[in-house]
Amino acid sequence: MNFSFEVLKTDATGARLGRLRTPRGEIKTPVFMPVGTQATVKSLRNEALEELGAQIILGNTYHLYLRPGHELIGKLGGLHKFMSWERAILTDSGGYQVFSLSELRKITDEGVRFRSHLDGAEHLLTPEKAAEIQLALGSDIAMVLDECIATPAPREIAEAALKRTTAWAKRARAFFLQCASRNGDLRQWQFGIVQGATFPDLRRESAQQLVEIDFPGYAVGGLAVGEPHGVTCEMTAEAARLLPEGKPRYLMGVGRPEQIADYVARGIDMMDCVLPTRAARHACIYTSEGKVLIKNARYAQDQRPLDPACSCSVCARYTRAYLRHLFAAGELTAAILATHHNIHFYLDLLRQIREAIEFGNLAKFSSEVQARYAAGPA
Ligand SMILES: [Zn+2]
Repeated sequence: MNFSFEVLKTDATGARLGRLRTPRGEIKTPVFMPVGTQATVKSLRNEALEELGAQIILGNTYHLYLRPGHELIGKLGGLHKFMSWERAILTDSGGYQVFSLSELRKITDEGVRFRSHLDGAEHLLTPEKAAEIQLALGSDIAMVLDECIATPAPREIAEAALKRTTAWAKRARAFFLQCASRNGDLRQWQFGIVQGATFPDLRRESAQQLVEIDFPGYAVGGLAVGEPHGVTCEMTAEAARLLPEGKPRYLMGVGRPEQIADYVARGIDMMDCVLPTRAARHACIYTSEGKVLIKNARYAQDQRPLDPACSCSVCARYTRAYLRHLFAAGELTAAILATHHNIHFYLDLLRQIREAIEFGNLAKFSSEVQARYAAGPA
């Protein structure tokens, strides 16, 4: 087993500087993980991701299970080999997409039955199946299947989902450990997921129950799905307080640049979000001065880089006027350049956050970022 996690420093806000070791390299935390839904981070070649310094990316179990299929990927040597990415990969359980994309889903204690959004074929995703798919993919970190509910949710719905999430987590862990005892070192870490909607006591209950099952790391799920940012922070803090100090904590699906430091200050070590890649494809550029909506006419003759303070290779070479033209002309290069910059911006933001924790000034750094994003671009 080549996995380990160490907290190197905790600051006054509760933010942690850490080191996550995986068989495919060391990851400095807090870390932002670019999302590679279909075994690719949209618009980026892996060479670019390597140049940008991404240490870990996400893969989506639901999509890869349906197409091209986990068995095919397994036969071809696993997801890393298939997509030619040697650094770490985290896969989700597929649950979130089943709940948000598929039709005719029916949830029972056994699992969730759904129809593929691609061809309508019926599938059954169980906690065991989600673990089996991720083992075939060979991701470094795998997530257990949880029940995702829409929020705000009535308390009885949240309670029932929490109960099922814990039962499924136990089954997923048992299945994983059985595979490990049969096949030896699986070279994979399996994380549990805290649910509990927007009820502080349910978040605490979920965290306690998962800690009893004993995972090497824990995620906080079902947040940043429309509730106010303050509630996201409060629920994250409730869960994080009860999670073991020495294990990594992953807040799923966040967040906006000005919010990232708030989650880090609640003791979060890992985050992922489609925002930088999706926004890039919609001509929204994240910069040190705030968002730049590059299609705006004001940039037609702007000879400055996308972000004058950015050290990425796109900003070193291309102007705002050029990128605006590429978007106007519908050129694929527009998405490629914008995504490259936005991922650089997020990875660099996390680098600055790690530096701020190191020097004990995260709160100051965070309020500066928030002020810039409130003021908008210069
Ligand atoms: Zn740049």
